[in-house]
Amino acid sequence: MGRVYNFSAGPSILPLEVLQQAKDELLNYKSSGMSVLELSHRSRLFMEIIEESEIMLRNLLQIPTNYHVLFLQGGATLQFSMVPLNLAVQSRKIDFIDTGIWSKKAIAEAEKFAKIHVVASSTTEIPKIENWHSDADYLHITTNNTIEGTRFPAIPKTNIPIVADMSSHILSEKIDVSQFGVIYAGAQKNIGPAGLTVVIIREDLLHRTPENCPTYLHYNTHAKHRSLYNTPPTFSIYMAKLVFQWLIDQGGISEIEKKNKEKAAILYHFLDESNFFFNPVEKEDRSLMNIPFSTVSDERNEQFISECLEKGLTNLKGHRTVGGMRASLYNAMHIEGVYELVNCMKEFEKKYV
Ligand SMILES: *Cc1c(COP(=O)(O)O)cnc(C)c1O
Repeated sequence: MGRVYNFSAGPSILPLEVLQQAKDELLNYKSSGMSVLELSHRSRLFMEIIEESEIMLRNLLQIPTNYHVLFLQGGATLQFSMVPLNLAVQSRKIDFIDTGIWSKKAIAEAEKFAKIHVVASSTTEIPKIENWHSDADYLHITTNNTIEGTRFPAIPKTNIPIVADMSSHILSEKIDVSQFGVIYAGAQKNIGPAGLTVVIIREDLLHRTPENCPTYLHYNTHAKHRSLYNTPPTFSIYMAKLVFQWLIDQGGISEIEKKNKEKAAILYHFLDESNFFFNPVEKEDRSLMNIPFSTVSDERNEQFISECLEKGLTNLKGHRTVGGMRASLYNAMHIEGVYELVNCMKEFEKKYV
């Protein structure tokens, strides 16, 4: 079919079964005579799609009933300001654990609304904070660091709500939603196409927002209207629903977590044995989803990336700020893709050591 193994960090690979189903249903969705792309967001067929998406996501993540699921737009980036606008309104203080570039971007926005306290800052490991007591309005963490390749091995305990940017690893492993006040994620990494942002928010946090908050940026607007205040990203929500169904068919989160751990272990094992390629992250803090690695020189990195490309392994170039390579092994990446990558690395290494 000419498809490649796409290791992009986002927008990223989608399951082939999902793309095929979308293709099959594209011209005539459920005998409506039209495409989902053409359905009114107020139509019965679309209402079914959005309601089923929510039910499936709730089942997959075991979301407690006192949490709302919102299907929004604006990416994780809009959440960088929407969260403080709604929640940093009591002590007007926000605590951040800064674990890399996305944390820093979230901090830069939050600074416009409140006083920021950076509890700890680190990039190649996750700061060890077990108990955190504070009078801030919330603690913000980036649970998986897409660029640095780290992930929180455990969620800190604290007396204040935790707001988590889970953009690059939501649905990749089990989480306990009740540990968080807000979870947000741009869809284009592990959920579906770009254009959709998922927000999971605890009921009581919907009622802090000041009166003068713009209607559209008020979480409760979207909660009250079940994400249908205005036209939502209909096709992205439909695609997300197909991905949720695919995950359920795979056996749910515990099964996908097993597969993700297996895939990541194959690559990390090779990296740790290799004298040529390396990964800089502390072992216990390594991401299962985004794995940065490098050789000793930029020239070799470039060469490796182009040799991979010839073999149908694409988007392995590292983020521009860190260089080297990065393999994103999201849910939809088949284990065969990881074996192909490791084979490519073995062959390349043989030539140079
Ligand atoms: C990709 C990413 C973002 C930015 O997402 P957008 O949807 O493009 O705004 C934010 N945080 C993390 C952790 C990401 O991986």
